[in-house]
Amino acid sequence: MPRIVADLHTHSLASTHAYSTVGELLAAAAALGLDALALTDHGPALPDAPHPWHFDNLRVLPREVGGVRLLRGCEVNIRTLSGDVDLDETMLGRMDWIVASFHEPCLAPGTVAEHTEAYLNALANPGVDSLGHTGSIQFPYDVDAVVKACRDAGKTIEINAGSFKVRPRSVPNCRRIAESCAKHGTFVVVTSDAHSHWDVGAFAPVLALLDEIGFPGDLILNADRDRLFRYIETRRGRSLA
Ligand SMILES: [Zn+2]
Ligand SMILES: [Zn+2]
Repeated sequence: MPRIVADLHTHSLASTHAYSTVGELLAAAAALGLDALALTDHGPALPDAPHPWHFDNLRVLPREVGGVRLLRGCEVNIRTLSGDVDLDETMLGRMDWIVASFHEPCLAPGTVAEHTEAYLNALANPGVDSLGHTGSIQFPYDVDAVVKACRDAGKTIEINAGSFKVRPRSVPNCRRIAESCAKHGTFVVVTSDAHSHWDVGAFAPVLALLDEIGFPGDLILNADRDRLFRYIETRRGRSLA
């Protein structure tokens, strides 16, 4: 398995059920030799989320610390079947990396058809880069349909290592989703979903799973620095410098 060069899903203590500072997250990423870390605290609609100003003000943080590029991000909440999320277009446009997820406090679980519809609509939002922890058993969906739409939209599906720790029942789904991505040529991103700095870069269970199913390394977007940065710069239409 190739080496993962960026952790694209992490939470600082701005999300109150997470426990580390931005500095601690970046130091952990630097110690692991990562090229980038996306700070993706929860979107404002989740009860423990930071105030919207948190996202607006990310620009005051340094662009790079200890060789680690800090990507301004958010884990937005998909709130409706129409795929609406809880940051507006202007804010989404200022971010470098947006992962869109279902969380029960923001959207009650429904049917497979409803979850599929919401994912397809979220993918159509130009500000969304990735679908987060889609293996969640509360939100089953038509995997092949969403994986193909993700490929066609030029976006990514996350394979979330945190799920192996906090949502272990979703692991068989993660496997099925990864297999579908391999079959349809859809990019995945391997992420930690760290809620403390000790979990930054803790990708091992996902890498083992991808290895087991013979997942093609060139479909892991964050296994190559240049590929990842080019993807972000092309999608966002601006330089990360
Ligand atoms: Zn989440
Ligand atoms: Zn998260």
